[in-house]
Amino acid sequence: MNSVAEDYRSQVSGLAYRNQAFINGKYVPAASGKTFDKVSPINGRLLTAVAECDREDVERAVGAARAAFDKGAWSRAFPKKRKTVLVRLAELMMKHRDELSLLETLDMGKPIANSRSADIPASAHTIQWYGEACDKVYDELAPQRPDSISMITREPLGVVAAVVPWNFPLLMACWKIGPALAAGNSVILKPAEQSPLTAIRIAELAAEAGLPEGVLNVLPGYGETAGQALGRHMDVDMVAFTGSTEVGKLFLRYSGESNMKHISLECGGKSPNIVFADVPDIDSVAKAAAAGVFYNSGQVCTAATRLIVDEKIKDKLVDLVGRHAAEWAPGDPLDPKTAMGSMVDKSQMDRVLDYIEVGRREGAKLATGGRQARQATGGYYIEPTIFEAPSNALRIAQEEIFGPVLTALTFRSDEEAVKIANDSIYGLQANLWTRDITRAHQIARALRAGTVNINATDGGDVTAPFGGYKQSGIGRDKSLHAFDKYTQLKHTFVQL
Ligand code: NAP
Ligand code: MG
Repeated sequence: MNSVAEDYRSQVSGLAYRNQAFINGKYVPAASGKTFDKVSPINGRLLTAVAECDREDVERAVGAARAAFDKGAWSRAFPKKRKTVLVRLAELMMKHRDELSLLETLDMGKPIANSRSADIPASAHTIQWYGEACDKVYDELAPQRPDSISMITREPLGVVAAVVPWNFPLLMACWKIGPALAAGNSVILKPAEQSPLTAIRIAELAAEAGLPEGVLNVLPGYGETAGQALGRHMDVDMVAFTGSTEVGKLFLRYSGESNMKHISLECGGKSPNIVFADVPDIDSVAKAAAAGVFYNSGQVCTAATRLIVDEKIKDKLVDLVGRHAAEWAPGDPLDPKTAMGSMVDKSQMDRVLDYIEVGRREGAKLATGGRQARQATGGYYIEPTIFEAPSNALRIAQEEIFGPVLTALTFRSDEEAVKIANDSIYGLQANLWTRDITRAHQIARALRAGTVNINATDGGDVTAPFGGYKQSGIGRDKSLHAFDKYTQLKHTFVQL
């Protein structure tokens, strides 16, 4: 580990915050001159005032993105050149790993150990992986008569807007901009207003890596204004969105009411974590179940929030998960030993505390936690919380809480386990634990989810596609399949 990692707290005072929009290769204030205060959820203190972009800034950014696309320095570049630039950007992100990790932690309250070992390196790896893919993906020829050529080529869409959430700010951005840029598009990135700092910073790193001006623009600002203006813009060809199901549906509407732009959606989840009674090591399952729901303070779209357990082992498993919950007691996000940090902001903390109250009122039994923590810091922390619920119909079993709250439910047969697991508007991820390989595959096939983990909770990396069934979304991020949404197919027929 780098020596500068030893004391993060001492580095905070020396940190510079880029806080403006990045349009056409330059940092600029919002056209209106407005800013919003970016407060750290670690301690409630002001970090910096960030440019509050709105419709006029969207106009400027779309104009710059379109001009860059039409000019072709990136959109029609030799793929090998795009590879070189993106790989260089990934290297620069790793060179600035400490700074980016600190920004991410101060911005949204996640533990520095996670920012440094997961968020930043995974983000850089995503950019590198798509950069490397630039000159390894081939077009197709259709099987046709010998006196003709039928070419199927992929072309970039044009101007892509990426609207992303705050839970993994840089990683969610890179899942979009990696394949979108690799395919030759121009991109406008709108980070969540809770977490704009790393997005703003990497725009400058991308320019340093050699990305031509106008190809990547970053617009901090609110969803209702800047986000909506992107969604309704007549010259944006696609919106790649990650966020809530509610806002995802708004983007479908914006598209229908404007230019029928392509929309891809990665939305909410309420992932089942099914545990059968034959698991060989119940304590390791309990440990993974706790990590699966408490990591990132439960602010994870795939969080394993519903523990669906054979009633024969329920008491034992819930007790063990409760013991492991102690390892996730919230701590100072700047302490490298902290496993769970703060919530992203006060309103998210209040929302989760409200849900805990709802669970109590609905008749669920509070087994662990349930309270706010570390109030003296001025930050927004919640204890890891476990409910035992009598039914999957409860709101705490149906609705996405997006906090460190687990709801335990029981089943008596395989059929009932599947029925409970699928009884959700969401279908992002599902996990199951058993030593019986036949049962594992049969249940995996019956689960309506984009990802199924067997004897794991969050398996895989950038090499596998990720996305949702049902109201968890449309389209896939990660893997080469992501190119499907950032390109369109052209058929060119040649009569010889
Ligand atoms: P959110 O409220 O839906 O916001 C997501 C993005 O949309 C933000 O940039 C937000 O901007 C913007 N936005 C909000 N209202 C908008 C509107 N009316 N028009 C246009 N844009 C708008 O979600 P969040 O609270 O940031 O993130 C939590 C949600 O994301 C959870 O539901 C979670 O499950 C989901 N998520 C899904 C995945 C996945 O891959 N499936 C991954 C991570 C998170 P502002 O915040 O600046 O207003
Ligand atoms: Mg928001």
